[in-house]
Amino acid sequence: EIRNPNEKEFLQAVRSIFKSLLPVFTKNPTYMEKGILEQLVEPERVITFRVPWVDDNGMVKVNRGFRVQYNSALGPYKGGLRFHPSVNLSIVKFLGLQQTLKNSLTGQPIGGGKGGADFDPKGKSDNEIMRFCQSFMTELAKYIGPDTDIPAGDIGVGAKEVGYMFGQYKKIRGSFEAGVLTGKGLGYGGSLARKEATGYGAIYFVEEMLKQKGLSLNGSTLVVSGSGNVSIYAMEKAIQLGAKVVACSDSDGYIFDENGIDINTIKQIKEEDSNRINEYLYTHPQAQYFDGCSGIWSIACDVALPCATQNEIDENAATQLVANGVKAIAEGANMPNTSEAIDVFLDNGILVGPSKAVNAGGVAVSSLEMAQNSMRMSWSFEEVDAQLQGIMKTIYQNCIIAAKEFDQEGNLIAGANIAGFQKVADAMMEQGVV
Ligand code: NDP
Repeated sequence: EIRNPNEKEFLQAVRSIFKSLLPVFTKNPTYMEKGILEQLVEPERVITFRVPWVDDNGMVKVNRGFRVQYNSALGPYKGGLRFHPSVNLSIVKFLGLQQTLKNSLTGQPIGGGKGGADFDPKGKSDNEIMRFCQSFMTELAKYIGPDTDIPAGDIGVGAKEVGYMFGQYKKIRGSFEAGVLTGKGLGYGGSLARKEATGYGAIYFVEEMLKQKGLSLNGSTLVVSGSGNVSIYAMEKAIQLGAKVVACSDSDGYIFDENGIDINTIKQIKEEDSNRINEYLYTHPQAQYFDGCSGIWSIACDVALPCATQNEIDENAATQLVANGVKAIAEGANMPNTSEAIDVFLDNGILVGPSKAVNAGGVAVSSLEMAQNSMRMSWSFEEVDAQLQGIMKTIYQNCIIAAKEFDQEGNLIAGANIAGFQKVADAMMEQGVV
């Protein structure tokens, strides 16, 4: 706390990981003796930079760019870029730490990193977004490469932004290095099923969680927050598996449709037209729209999937969900529950799937995209989806096994932290103090 004042999200992530790892250190004191924890809470490298760009009125704007190259014990740094006005060092560091353990959980040879800028793509023209991405990449290009650091998308960064950044990187380098970014367009090295991977993967994980309680998604009622990349494909897969999704949101408000949300309408509004979620009511007048985001958690459901942003479920929201009979929470977004909310769920015996496991399908398929780029091949949708399903099942099993080994049976949060940590820690020890 003394070294990282004002980094509340980073400290929250560190505390949560420490809590799970206590039994690991008691059993294996070597990790302490070798200073693994001290090294793990310090990113290997933090880069911040100025991002100047010119808006459509000829005015100069300046944003702040970040890249945290968090840990390279298991492979080159890998993790997304977030463009959102809330982005600051604390958020990028917490995401980098989480990404390190998440990437370890996937079983793929990738280290952890994260980055972004306090740029708000909302309300910007396409040309403004392109100029911003080009300026951002002009600086970032100095620090990344297919064998050093491979960024991807996150909030506010989709295939369009990745495309503009890739174009600029290619121009600066003078060579076509497909493996430098993932989440690319399908025509120039992107992977089939990458767009769907995080949401689909989250639902594959939820199916495994529910089996533990003798339940299944078929016939269950879901509430999903957000209506971005993760939310849309989580809803799509859940509906395919027989669930009814009754609510979703954007940063202005949420919709409730007791007949079950029509996913094609949501895709049209958010992906095709880039509009607000309240437009759902134009074609579905039986649905209701409410201003504000937090009210969505007052809707009764069997499974809640927070898929928007960090700390969106607080103690109050958690208490309401429990009172309404929720059976499982799966974190599609990164750290969407406050620590108080987690306590409420665990105290009431509610299953919680932690983000570093639940949403790991995205980065797992990004790693498959890198593999395809290296081989100059592309696999079919079905092949990538089958690999994704296998990876999510393995992650779930590894979480269960790790939790059991350290006397925290059934606690997926502890299991994910422990399983993710052990591989990184062992690799760090083998590589020495560097
Ligand atoms: P998108 O930008 O595609 O969508 C984010 C959604 O959440 C949008 O509906 C947005 O509303 C809403 N939202 C964003 N910020 C806030 C906020 N502060 N308050 C309320 N609502 C908000 O992002 P993704 O779907 O890609 O990412 C969502 C979460 O999943 C993030 O935590 C991200 O780190 C995590 N994640 C994403 C992965 C991926 O592959 N995309 C991989 C692993 C994790 P609006 O439409 O109004 O902007």
